[in-house]
Amino acid sequence: AAKRAGKDQYQFFNKSLHREFQERLSITQDLRSAIANGEFHLVYQPIYRLRDHRLVKAEALIRWQHPTRGAIAPAVFIPLAEACGLIIDIGKWVFDTVLQDLATIDLLHLQGTQISINISPVQFAHPQPLRAFIQRLQYSNIPCERFCFEITEGLLLEPSKITQDTLNALKQAGIKLSIDDFGTGYSALGYLKKYHIDYVKIDQSFIKHIERDNYAFVLCRSIIQMAHELDIKLIAEGVENASQENILKVIQCDYIQGFLHGKPAPFSTLLTQAYQQTKSVQVPHLFNSDTK
Ligand code: C2E
Ligand code: MG
Ligand code: MG
Ligand code: MG
Repeated sequence: AAKRAGKDQYQFFNKSLHREFQERLSITQDLRSAIANGEFHLVYQPIYRLRDHRLVKAEALIRWQHPTRGAIAPAVFIPLAEACGLIIDIGKWVFDTVLQDLATIDLLHLQGTQISINISPVQFAHPQPLRAFIQRLQYSNIPCERFCFEITEGLLLEPSKITQDTLNALKQAGIKLSIDDFGTGYSALGYLKKYHIDYVKIDQSFIKHIERDNYAFVLCRSIIQMAHELDIKLIAEGVENASQENILKVIQCDYIQGFLHGKPAPFSTLLTQAYQQTKSVQVPHLFNSDTK
C-alpha cells in the first residue's frame, strides 16, 4: 500500500509539474504578441521624502492584461521574459512609454520628480536599447538626472566588461542608479561606491517586520548608517502603516514608498498628485485659474 501511495504521489507531483510547465510555456507564447496587441501598460507609484513628505520620485511598474487570463503579475512574467529574451523588447516598450507619458502631458506639474525604471540584468547584456535611451534623452529637453535605473545587487557582483561599460555610460550621462530589494541578496557594500550608486532600496520584507522583529530593525538601521557614510540615500519599500513610517523616521531613512501613501496608479494620478503639491506651495501666477 505504501508503495502504491508513493506512486500516486509521484504521479500527482509529476502531473502538477507538467501542468505548471505547460502553463509557463503558454504564457511565454502569449508574451510574444502582448506588445503588438497593446496588452501592457505602465502604472506609477509615488515615492515621498520623509523629511517633508514631498513627492519627489515615482517608480514605473509594468502591468499585463492578458486577454483570457486577466492580469498577470510581473513577478510571474518578467522571469519568463528574461528567460526567452523578450525582456529586451519589453524594456524598449517601457522606455518608449515612459518618454511618451512625460512628453505628452504638461511637464510642469512633474517638475523635479524623478522617474525610476526597473532594468533587468539581461538588458545589460544587450545594452543597445539602454544606450539609445540615453541618446534620445540628450536630444530631448528632459535632463538625464530625472531618471533613475533600478538594478539588482547580482548585476554588480561580477559584472562583465559590457555591463561595466554600460554602467559607466549611464553614470556619465547623469542617470541615477539605485539598488533594488537590498538586503535579500549579498548585501556587499564595497561595490556601492565603486559603481557610484545613488540610492539603496531596502527590501519590503525587512520593512514588513521592522516593528516586531529586532533583527529586521537592527539590519535596517545599520544599512542606513553605512549607506549614509558612503553618501548614499535610502528608500524604504513596502511601507504600509504609520508605525513603520515613524520607525523609519527615527532611524533616518530618506524616502518611503508603499501602500500607506500611494499605490501604483495610472500616470494621470501621478500628475494630479504632483500638481496638487505644486499648487499648495508656490508659483501662484502659473495657476491663476484655480488658485483664485
Ligand atoms: P520592485 O521593483 O521591487 O517593485 C516593488 C513591488 O512592490 C511592486 O510590485 C509594487 O507594486 C509592490 N509594492 C509597493 N508598495 C507596496 C506595499 O506597501 N506593500 C506591498 N505588499 N507591496 C508593495 P509589482 O508591481 O508587482 O512588481 C514586482 C516586480 O516586478 C518589481 O519589484 C520588479 O522587480 C519587477 N518589475 C515591475 N515592472 C518592471 C519593468 O518594467 N521592468 C522590469 N525589468 N521589471 C519590472
Ligand atoms: Mg523596483
Ligand atoms: Mg524592490
Ligand atoms: Mg522586488
